[in-house]
Amino acid sequence: MKKKNNFHQFAISAKCNNNCIFCSDKNMPIPKKPYTLDNIKKSIDSLIEVNKIKGIFLTSNEPTLNKDLFRILQYMRSKKLEIKLNTNARIFSIKKNVERIKKLGITELRISIHGHNARIHDAITRSPNSFEQTAAGIKNLKSVGAYVSTNTVICKMNYQYLSKILLFLSGLKVDKIDFFGVKPTGNGKKNFELVMPRFSAIVPYIDELYKSGKQDNITFSLSNIPFCFLEHEKFKVGQKITPFYYQHDKLRLNLDTFTNKIKMDKCKSCDDYEECGGVYKIYLEKYGSEEFK
Ligand code: SF4
Repeated sequence: MKKKNNFHQFAISAKCNNNCIFCSDKNMPIPKKPYTLDNIKKSIDSLIEVNKIKGIFLTSNEPTLNKDLFRILQYMRSKKLEIKLNTNARIFSIKKNVERIKKLGITELRISIHGHNARIHDAITRSPNSFEQTAAGIKNLKSVGAYVSTNTVICKMNYQYLSKILLFLSGLKVDKIDFFGVKPTGNGKKNFELVMPRFSAIVPYIDELYKSGKQDNITFSLSNIPFCFLEHEKFKVGQKITPFYYQHDKLRLNLDTFTNKIKMDKCKSCDDYEECGGVYKIYLEKYGSEEFK
């Protein structure tokens, strides 16, 4: 019998109450079967039976918008599945939803937050009050002891504020803080020049981020940026003296599969050739390769 050791990504909603300017879910195919409770239960049963899963990672669009969310979660728990929930956490600004989620014992709530204030975050989500609700959601979830991780996409609107975002999230007592480069699919492709910063432009802000984390002993990860813009050696040193860590390898494997990255001729002489995930083809088409040494 296959060992039960895997989490399976699973979508339960075709809608989102944010409309992020770089959202990579916007080109998701419409599912053949609607997201009804019955269909979802059957899919869960099949995943358990066929894939021998240990847990489910609810992701894509905004899972909390499924009207049967709590029934779905209860069903998963009745099947002894661990649950990770990718969410903008806006519904957790309402305390009664936090109480309900607490009772279900969710393993991890992974929350998308892209700024340290409403001006930046709401401009990115293009949804008024989204910052206020997401920040309140995080506070409420932390107040009941939930494990909260965050995902911040580094884009043209926020890259100058990375260290401020880090300190803000640390102040909210978030358990794990991840920064991630723009994925140019869906809205990320449609709005490429509006959202994708040049890697050379973000270098000083990554440096500032690193220094802030080191000074205040805050752990974070940074992914989906080519190694040549990360002063990789410095981060390797950082790993030894502070709790910094990288997730590039793991993410690189996934990203290479889905997102059209390539390596250039000039990469062949690069020391990080094997470890680096490369560069999005569209990035080189739009911005050229002059920045890469
Ligand atoms: S492999 Fe290419 S993109 Fe990656 S770090 Fe080296 S030069 Fe940069």
